[in-house]
Amino acid sequence: MSDATTINGRPLKPSTLMMGHGFDPVLSEGSLKPPIFLTSTFAFPSAADGKRHFEGITGKRPGGADGLVYSRFNAPNQEILEDRLSIWDGAEDALSFSSGMTAICVLLLTYASQGDVIVHSGPLYAATEGFVAKWMSRWGVSYVDFPAGATREQIDAVLDRAKAQAAENGGKVAMVYLESPGNPTNALVDVEAVRAAVDAAGLDCPIAIDNTFLGPLWQRPLEHGADIVCYSLTKYVGGHSDLVAGSIAGAKKWMDPVRMLRNTMGGICDPNTAWMLCRSLETVELRMQRAGDNAAKVCEFLSKHPKVEGLGYLGMIKDARQQDIYDRHCLGAGSTFSLLLRGGEAECFRFLDALKIAKLAVSLGGTETLASHPASMTHLSVPDERKAALGIGDNLIRISIGIEDPDDLIADFEQALEAV
Ligand SMILES: *Cc1c(COP(=O)(O)O)cnc(C)c1O
Repeated sequence: MSDATTINGRPLKPSTLMMGHGFDPVLSEGSLKPPIFLTSTFAFPSAADGKRHFEGITGKRPGGADGLVYSRFNAPNQEILEDRLSIWDGAEDALSFSSGMTAICVLLLTYASQGDVIVHSGPLYAATEGFVAKWMSRWGVSYVDFPAGATREQIDAVLDRAKAQAAENGGKVAMVYLESPGNPTNALVDVEAVRAAVDAAGLDCPIAIDNTFLGPLWQRPLEHGADIVCYSLTKYVGGHSDLVAGSIAGAKKWMDPVRMLRNTMGGICDPNTAWMLCRSLETVELRMQRAGDNAAKVCEFLSKHPKVEGLGYLGMIKDARQQDIYDRHCLGAGSTFSLLLRGGEAECFRFLDALKIAKLAVSLGGTETLASHPASMTHLSVPDERKAALGIGDNLIRISIGIEDPDDLIADFEQALEAV
């Protein structure tokens, strides 16, 4: 049996390839699905093979390991997962991690050295922002940030500032790190403008982007000039709120240095979770489409309700600049959005406590609908001025729509709004 990726020269779609790509049942007793390889180490066919594999692992020979060695470096379930993740983003290579934050931290540690500057969009996922500001600074790495939605001119100015700061600190601009859309306001970053600005500034650092909210279905950042995509696989890709994992993907030249640090530190996804993720990838397109359709229907209802002040939903953008970025970068509006109620914390809490189907929990991208109050939960520790600047008010509720029946969801939101 061959592992075809094309038929008559026609490339197969990711949703087709998710059923079997990267796994040959003949090598595993004909088992249709990959077994979970619970082993810490792999037997070498010969001593010469062992030497050759270690040359790849240690970087003595470029191109990485060409065989299985030890489960901190690579293993079958993780390799199948990485092959399949690469397909969704059209990437040459992917690396899996034990969490989204492990992926992001190992990535940043790989590229930034003492004196370097990281340029990032804001807001970022709070733990990412904290890692850059509180941890990287301890090793002499500083940052410059710009708001999502910044124009080409504003990005140019930020890069100039970053270059000057790096020169002063005896370092370089190590990475441009983006997150789009930002959480919880859904502000989009113009990735194409960032690419053009980085090239015009003569920087050869990678542009990385956290694509957790819209990827892999609704945003393909590598096609818009990003070099590396990052994921919390915990969210839409895992999709069932039953695992924690992360990944990055991009060209081999960007992945290889990260792989070297992952080999040293660990942090690779475990085999059981990798297997669960391969199962999830078989349905990711179905789940995301259904969740996206549901969100459109729910938002249509919410937008007309008298107790609703506004929505931060990518299917109903009010700002021309944001709409332009959306039209160039996004293939769908997603299913995570913010709901602004007329009132404040008390009204939001009454709404949240009255929900019967939607669960009151942080996280997103699962089969079930979740709702939370960022100002008093995920963003509680963010200073008030910063919250105000990011548009995170007391009247903002974040909702991640799942794959339930849309009319049931609308009925739930309707009765919860009555309780406000
Ligand atoms: C959840 C999340 C992360 C962190 O991922 P974990 O799997 O929880 O470590 C990073 N970025 C975004 C946008 C997220 O939503």
